[in-house]
Parts: sequence; structure tokens; C-alpha cells
Amino acid sequence: MIDKRKFYINGKWINPNKSNDFGVIDPSTEEQYAFISLGSKKDVDIAVKAARDAFLKWSQTSKKVKINLLEKLLKIYKLRWNEITETMSKEMGAPLDWSSSAQTTSGFDHINDFIKRLKIFEFEKKFENNSNNYIIYEPIGVCGLITPWNWPINQITLKVIPALATGCTMILKPSEIAPMSGMIFAEIIDEAGFPPGVFNLINGDGDGVGTDLSSHPEIDMISFTGSTRAGKLISKNAAETIKRVCLELGGKGGNIVFSDSHPDAVREGVRNIMSNSGQSCDAPTRMLVEKSIYKRAIEEAADEANKIKVDIALKKGDHIGPVISQTQYDKIIDLIRSGIKEGATLLAGGAERPEGLNKGYFLKPTIFTDVSNDMRIAKEEIFGPVLSIIPFETEDEAISIVNETSYGLGNYVQTQNKVKAKRVAKKFRSGGVYINGHSADPGTPFGGYRQSGNGREGGNWGLEEYLEVKTICGWD
Ligand code: NAD
Repeated sequence: MIDKRKFYINGKWINPNKSNDFGVIDPSTEEQYAFISLGSKKDVDIAVKAARDAFLKWSQTSKKVKINLLEKLLKIYKLRWNEITETMSKEMGAPLDWSSSAQTTSGFDHINDFIKRLKIFEFEKKFENNSNNYIIYEPIGVCGLITPWNWPINQITLKVIPALATGCTMILKPSEIAPMSGMIFAEIIDEAGFPPGVFNLINGDGDGVGTDLSSHPEIDMISFTGSTRAGKLISKNAAETIKRVCLELGGKGGNIVFSDSHPDAVREGVRNIMSNSGQSCDAPTRMLVEKSIYKRAIEEAADEANKIKVDIALKKGDHIGPVISQTQYDKIIDLIRSGIKEGATLLAGGAERPEGLNKGYFLKPTIFTDVSNDMRIAKEEIFGPVLSIIPFETEDEAISIVNETSYGLGNYVQTQNKVKAKRVAKKFRSGGVYINGHSADPGTPFGGYRQSGNGREGGNWGLEEYLEVKTICGWD
């Protein structure tokens, strides 16, 4: 059993104030393989004090010193690549090859890109040529960073690196369900030589450490990625101290497949939702298919879903792994059953276990057709390998179905008509749009409209989240 019960506070690994063990479970086997501790208010207070004490010096540390440390961090990250990959694979069920090519790579890309942005970011500038006003960007202060389990290192790097780069100090609380990669990340920070107190890590759950961070009077900002449910609670808990709250929340992406889309569009849409076992916030979970190609589309979708293999995560190859936990598994099964009950047609998969996998939180890639947008499977974020296919007749009808949701994170459009693709992209009410399967470059902003959140992570937008802006009048 791996023992990771210590917290990283003020540059040292220390025991929690009071022991509160929590088991980490491998979702491929349902077996516990590690212990962490769930922290308390006292642990949070100690870490916040360390971060507060370190802030003055770190906030005034030169760009050059910060870049050197970040470059060292990147180098160590690369050296520990396989360990990070295997750790995420075991803690959250990402198959090894995918864990490396998508999960570990995303962390590398974010660190690399933020270093690039920091080098050219202007922290001070004159307002206008003939003005005597001067604008300064300053670090906001002590930050509480709360991350989810589905893209563990991706989310940690999207928060920790811009916070470090802008001169903030921080307390990271990774997801208690997949905390192990976050512990490696803290070791990397330690080895890179960041000053004590700049970065601190406490494990804990939402009701405990998550709430203590959100309501803490000495924390200036919370950056949160996770469910809309928790985002609402964090906003309420943070309100009393008027801290900045940046939220990256859930999604219910639509993917419009027009009759003039490229021949692989339907199959690609199926592969996209099933990757990471459907546990991505911007996954294209509702596929809207033009009626004239509906019959062909559902044949292709069924064929593609049935081709996807499901297997344990710590195996190489092209398959999907389990979902994260018993709770998620039960929630997904409940939603699959609700789809059948509400009259959608089950095209592939279903609520039974995949053959040969009697242990582990495994689900079959599942597709429903004849879904209407008012069914639970079309409205709620399922966060599992489940796709809903909805037919449409006109472009306006398809856009309005896509936008008819409380979320607004990522939407997709498939057509070979570039004018139509751009027209539709502009009409989506979401922070991201993916035309014909193109992906986002590192450094572009990522975030949502409506109940998908209010922040933007990545690139200059990600740096600006951690900065206050000061206007000084009479500079010249
Ligand atoms: P979750 O909200 O249950 O937990 C996320 C984190 O918040 C964990 O660290 C958890 O301990 C903490 N937390 C839970 N309740 C809290 C509370 N009341 N106060 C403070 N902290 C609290 O989410 P999850 O199940 O870990 O992650 C899946 C969710 O994350 C999905 O909804 C997904 O769409 C979303 N997500 C969004 C993005 C994005 O960038 N928009 C990216 C990845 C995941």
C-alpha cells in the first residue's frame, strides 16, 4: 500500500494536523492501492500562512528568475514522464497510451506555452502615447486551486503554472479521488527549487478543505475546475470575502453533422465522445444529424461503437478504460436506464458490463438514437461513454437545439462548406467551437458560457486571471 499521507507545506512534506486516512482506489480493479489524508481547517490555516508569508518576496521576484525555475520544472516533468503517465492511468483509468499521448502531453504543452507567454507578457505599459496614465498588472495574491480527477495534470498545470508565472502563491487541492499525480507534481516543484511557501499542497474533500479554502479570508482568489454543482457552492462560500472566483465547470456539447460533412464525420464524433471513457467536460455528447443522412449515420455510429475495445487501464493499446468510481458508474447506469424509459432507442451498448470484465467500473460504449432534447440523457452531463443522436431538418433548428442547454463549453460542427461552418460557429453560445475535428492550440483560451463557468484558462487569458490591474495617473 502506497503511503502518501503527508502534505507539502512551506517547502516540506509534513504530517496532517490530525489523521484522517482516505483510500485511493484503482478503477480498473476496484482495489485500494494507496492512502492519502483528508486535511482539516488547521492544515489550511498553516498552508495559507505559509503562502501569505511567501507572497511579498515571490510577487517581486524577477521574470528571469521565474522563467529559470519554470524551465527547470519542465525539464524534470519530462524526466518523470512515464511515472506521471502510469500514475494517472492507475488513479483515474486512462489507458497507458492515451494517458501519455493526451494526458501527460497536455501538461507538458501548458507548461511550455506559459513559459513562452511569460517571456513576452507586458506587466507594465503606458495607457496611450499622449497619456500620463500608466497601467500595471500585479499578482492577485494567495490563490486556492481546486482541481478534478478527469484530466488531473492538465488541470493542475493550467492553474499552478500561470499562478507561479504571475507571482502568486498558492494552495493546491487536487481531487481526492485521483490525488497521486498531484503529489508527483508537488515533488517536481520541490526539486525545481521554488522558494518555500510559494506552492503548497493539501489533500482533502469538497466539504472540508474545499470549503475551507473557498471561505478563507486570507485567500484572494479561488480557481476551480469541476462540476457546476460544486461551482455554485464555492461561489456562495466565497461571497462573504469578495474574493475572485474563476470557474471551469461542466458541459453538454453538441456536434452538428450536416449531410455535406466529410465521410468520417460520424465515426470521428463517436470516437471523440468515447475517448477518456466520456469523461471530458467539452465532449460532443449530443450528435445532431441531418435527416437526409440519418439512416447511414446510425449504421456507422453503431459499427464504430461496437469496434471500440474496453479494457484495464494499465495495458498498452487502443482501448478505453473504466470510469472513475462506483458513484460515477451508478450515475451513468441510472442515466442509461432513464434513456430507455423515456423512449430513446438503444443503438449500441447498454447497462450491462462489457464481456470478460467482471471487476472494475467498466461500461460499454453506448449510443441512443431518436433522442429528443428534453430527455434526461440530452440535458444532464452524463460524464460516461454515452452518446445521444438527435435528428434535425434545418440549420436554424440544429443550432437552437445545441444552444438549448444550461451549459456552453464546447460545440462542434461538421460540414465541408466553409462559409456554413463559420456561420454556425459564430451562432453557438459556447467558449469553444471545433470545426471538422480541428483541435485547440496550446495558448488559446479555454472556458465556458452560462453554467459552464466564467473563467478562461490558457495563454495570456490564463495569466490575466491571476492578475490585478492598477491605473497610476500622473506617471510622466
Ligand atoms: P467535483 O465538482 O465533484 O470535484 C472537483 C473538485 O472540487 C474536487 O477536488 C473536489 O474535492 C472539489 N469539491 C467538491 N465539492 C466542493 C465544494 N463544495 N467546495 C469546494 N470544493 C469542492 O467534480 P469532479 O467529479 O471531480 O469532476 C468532473 C466535473 O468537472 C465535470 O462536471 C466536468 O465537466 C468538470 N470539468 C470541467 C472542466 C472545464 O475546464 N470546464 C475540465 C474538467 C472537468
